[in-house]
Amino acid sequence: MKASSSILIRGAEVYDGSGAEPSRLDVLVVDGRIRLVSDRTAVPSGVPTLDGAGLALAPGFIDVHTHSDALALMPDADPELSLAPVRQGVTVEIAGNCGSSLFPPAQPGTDAVAMESFIRTLFGDDAHSVEGAEDFERLQMGVDRKTNIVSLVGHSTLRGAVLGFGDCRPTPAQLDQMCSLLGAALRAGAAGLSSGLIYPPGTFADTDELVALARVAAAHGRPYVTHLRDEMSNVEAALDEAIDVARASGVALHVSHHKTAGTQGHGRTVSTLATMDAARASGVDLTCDVYPYTASSTHLHAMFPPWATAGGIPALLERLRSGAEVRDAVRRSIAVGEEGWENTVGNGGWDLIEVATAPGRSEAEGRSIAGLAQAAGVDPVDYAADLLLAEQAQVTIISRSMAEDDVRRVLSHPGTMIGSDGVPHSGRPHPRWAGSFARVLGRYSRDAGLLTLADAVSRMTALPARRFGLRGRGVIAEGAHADLVLFDPAEVLDRATFATPLDAPRGIHHVFVNGQRVIADGSPTGASPGRPLRVQHEPVGTPG
Ligand SMILES: [Zn+2]
Repeated sequence: MKASSSILIRGAEVYDGSGAEPSRLDVLVVDGRIRLVSDRTAVPSGVPTLDGAGLALAPGFIDVHTHSDALALMPDADPELSLAPVRQGVTVEIAGNCGSSLFPPAQPGTDAVAMESFIRTLFGDDAHSVEGAEDFERLQMGVDRKTNIVSLVGHSTLRGAVLGFGDCRPTPAQLDQMCSLLGAALRAGAAGLSSGLIYPPGTFADTDELVALARVAAAHGRPYVTHLRDEMSNVEAALDEAIDVARASGVALHVSHHKTAGTQGHGRTVSTLATMDAARASGVDLTCDVYPYTASSTHLHAMFPPWATAGGIPALLERLRSGAEVRDAVRRSIAVGEEGWENTVGNGGWDLIEVATAPGRSEAEGRSIAGLAQAAGVDPVDYAADLLLAEQAQVTIISRSMAEDDVRRVLSHPGTMIGSDGVPHSGRPHPRWAGSFARVLGRYSRDAGLLTLADAVSRMTALPARRFGLRGRGVIAEGAHADLVLFDPAEVLDRATFATPLDAPRGIHHVFVNGQRVIADGSPTGASPGRPLRVQHEPVGTPG
């Protein structure tokens, strides 16, 4: 036993991830693994000790929903963006969400320019598509990582790779090709299939296409993770569609960042949660996650109707450049809606949409589109269109779209997991990337009493580990990977705000990733022990 790779954490209240009340235990970290110590005299002398008295020890938190796919791969990324998850105790990030992953790449004969533009718009200027799940793993292995990462296979990326970015349906051969690329990625260790059905090109898919792909995920024992087609006035129909996909394919269904947003959506989590419970009772394997804020965040181009983005980002920019007619048509679409389109602005207004990140127009960050347009003496659609053109569509926004009661209802519902939905770009990103986990522990568990600490920890650890097939993680058990958080339950609290979105939380004292300390006494140690994870192949039936 090398003393340097060992440490004894003494006397903490240990939350093992199961949801059980804590017990006082000594935990030995040795060679990246956990050993439960029943007899302190059996611990070799010379092993350093960390005093856990008065603190809580939990498995490292698993952020089930991130858009951090390319963050560690970007040479110029702000180090504070990379540190934000681990500063709040996150040790595993699940990327590839909302239909967008870095793989597969454009297949021969499809629009590689539109694919690269799609990837850059979502993940940043230096981001590129990668060859596949193995290549994603190889690249993540070759860079400094604070946390572990595993990716889902994004349906929009998969569709763009085979069909391009237009409003079209796949031929049977194209659908076969999508299924076979998906199957290959899942066999290489990807965590499941994700969709983002408000975003192009995913939004152009019909339910049958999703069922065909979900069957492949089901055959590999992996979940289908979906950003519903509508989270606003048609949220019930969108949830029904997801449940239909699960019933028809046999896939395990996970609903991402569940919310019922927009002025028409407030209060509707009462019915959506009841629908989820009923589906579960009838045998559908269904879970969801949430982030603990009443504001959402996404890309500015998602405020435009699907017809405007058909063909991909270059086609969108071309249309916006073409003159007043297109912009008038956008205004009409927002005013009257479009069949099957969520229409965020129509459900709230430009005054509720704030610029988060616009690298070339930092003066706009933190201000509403309505206010910016008024100051510029132009219509909000024109302001938004000109901003997209100026920034090559690399603009993220914050949308003040939810009600606190809905957030609390979803958060306290049995089995809901925590996902930050972090979009780690510089500027003024949503504080959820740096605050979600500490906020649930401090504000919602301790201060509001919405859920017990043991329950909150379980939703961040063992529940997601089971859902996403991360064996040996999310638990404090003999032989488990030593991803651990030692925190003060009386002190823990998020400090990230919309004005200071990367402020580190209070009360997170020590964080271990794969047995190495990344945070010690609340400060980064400089260690980068994170690595890509691979979900083990467990065939169920016939793989696609
Ligand atoms: Zn999403």
